Amino acid sequence: MTAPAARTDTLDLIGNTPLVLLAGPSEAAGCEIWGKCEFANPGASVKDRAALYIVRDAEARGELKPGGTVVEGTAGNTGIGMALVANALGYKTVIVMPDNQSREKMDTLRALGAELVTVPPTKFADPNHFVHTSRRIADEMDNAIWANQFDNVANRRAHIEGTAREIWQQLDGRVDGFTCAVGTGGTLAGVGMGLKAEDENVRIALTDPHGAALYDYFAHGELKSEGNSVAEGIGQGRITANLEGAPIDTQFRISDEEGLEWVARLLREEGLCLGLSSGINVAGAVALGRQLVADGREDARVATILCDTGFRYLSTLYNAEWLRAKKLPVFDWLGSS
Ligand code: PMP
Repeated sequence: MTAPAARTDTLDLIGNTPLVLLAGPSEAAGCEIWGKCEFANPGASVKDRAALYIVRDAEARGELKPGGTVVEGTAGNTGIGMALVANALGYKTVIVMPDNQSREKMDTLRALGAELVTVPPTKFADPNHFVHTSRRIADEMDNAIWANQFDNVANRRAHIEGTAREIWQQLDGRVDGFTCAVGTGGTLAGVGMGLKAEDENVRIALTDPHGAALYDYFAHGELKSEGNSVAEGIGQGRITANLEGAPIDTQFRISDEEGLEWVARLLREEGLCLGLSSGINVAGAVALGRQLVADGREDARVATILCDTGFRYLSTLYNAEWLRAKKLPVFDWLGSS
């Protein structure tokens, strides 16, 4: 194994993450399931990639000027990536977050020097939704840009040019399936487009949590949601600009319980401490692997995204009291305290 090349710019630490074969999921699917270790980015999530591309794009278009401020609405991870990128390039950040996201993400944002604004969680149609609030703040500030990760396709370009190309190279040009859940859709659409450009037979699947509207949209053409999920950063109710033209072949709907089961197994059996969107992605990858095997592709290789670190959810997913309050199963090693 060759060591990663030495870097002269800290921003070059974003991307080029490891890909790892997941033993338990591969056994459950009957084929290879690979996880892209996005928790290995400097901000510990997949969103560092989008933050870097959005900032570089705004600079290239002359919108982001020296000493400027980047304003963004986010479930947290994009804000963390944005704060790091902005610090490295001499910009300021204002981050707007719904106040039901994990405390760890809010504390991290403050620690990184971002100005944090929290708003109550509301529907997208509400003018006080975190996305609209972030846009308003950007409009009212001098020398500021609105990053607009949901509808700014610089986001998915990070995954076409980065994540997809890396997965293709890391698997020596043989990938049969890819799946992940959607927040902005940048990862799913970008990796889907990038892999299809290499081989149009790669099967691209949406993995949707309960409470999101995309499963019904891709299955029946209707945006419709049922139930809910405690997973942070995923669960979309509309077709964002990043999702437009996404090459989706099939779709799976995954419950929090199924996702949590994989979070628990990956931690206890494989030593990976992950967030719930990663567990939901792995459950989707197992479903996609099984589908490919049933179609006679016993040697299938499926890739998915391990989106962020579980250390970001110590007060939620890894807290017995919180799990109990959400009526979710408590990991047995957390005990009864
Ligand atoms: N998982 C987590 C933990 C996230 O924060 C996000 C981003 N909101 C995603 C998954 C989804 O990524 P994307 O925005 O590219 O759809």
